[in-house]
Amino acid sequence: MVNAMNKPSHHWSQTSSRLMNACPRAWALTYGRPSTHSKSRTVSRQHQPRTFDELLTRTMRATWRRKIEDLYQRKIWSEAYTERMFTHMVNDALSAAKMEAPLLYRQQKIKQSLKQIQVLEQSTGLRPLVDGQPRRWAYFDRLDSTEVDGIEFYAAPDLAVYHQHRWTLIRIQFRSPRTGLMSQQLEHLLTVLWALRSEGLPDHISAFRLKVIQWKGSRWQEHTLNITPPLMEQALGLMKHDVQEMTWLSRWAMADPSLSTLPLAVHNKHCRGCHHRKQCPAVGGLAQAKLRQQLELNQSEATKSLNTA
Ligand code: SF4
Repeated sequence: MVNAMNKPSHHWSQTSSRLMNACPRAWALTYGRPSTHSKSRTVSRQHQPRTFDELLTRTMRATWRRKIEDLYQRKIWSEAYTERMFTHMVNDALSAAKMEAPLLYRQQKIKQSLKQIQVLEQSTGLRPLVDGQPRRWAYFDRLDSTEVDGIEFYAAPDLAVYHQHRWTLIRIQFRSPRTGLMSQQLEHLLTVLWALRSEGLPDHISAFRLKVIQWKGSRWQEHTLNITPPLMEQALGLMKHDVQEMTWLSRWAMADPSLSTLPLAVHNKHCRGCHHRKQCPAVGGLAQAKLRQQLELNQSEATKSLNTA
């Protein structure tokens, strides 16, 4: 793990990468400026959930995580205990986020989420753990970082299970992301890179399998990914390219503290529920804001040309 005192100045996480690709301005506001916190950027800059669905997704993950911690100690949660715990955590998260959800709707969503957690435990990836079969396994926190070529790197799997002389790294996605298939696969492969660079795990790719369990529509889908040296190279390249872009954006944000020249969101959907919307030129509409920004840039280019003529 990376020592907090010696943290590298750059970091990569899936959340940061996705935000940068969705909206460079939102990324610069969230990660692009020096933090006064000594804690991990990812921890200190985590926002409250924007929607009830986001809140449910996070709470499902948090509940499942507590459940798995107890399972590791061979403490099995009953259905009634899981329901009590999850409901309690949802209510706590709602009041922390100052969010309201009508009672009936909330109860219906809680029921659906509990079902989702229950079915997850029946998946081929997780069933053996619940049955107490594997002797060697470990769970990880997504905020566990390691260092890769001077980059603080967040890509921990949720679980690692030792079986037939290899470690199966398992990633669980409680909601399927909207990114393209290829970039999703590369992001998954970064989990192997994380494992290769982490203490206590092997340092060669043949020692790993990679499994993704993803909630799609109304069921869990499981798939195993190929791990090959060329694919690992591509994944590493993707991560380094992202970090290069992030470094450039940070410099840009520091050179233009108003952020008025930074690119805005790629699509309207990214603005919905954005924490920075009220202070953003896109508050009245993304298309108009982009047009105004372009006009201002053209005007300033024209002024510069006149001044240098
Ligand atoms: S409101 Fe839209 S354009 Fe503005 S920071 Fe948020 S995502 Fe980016």
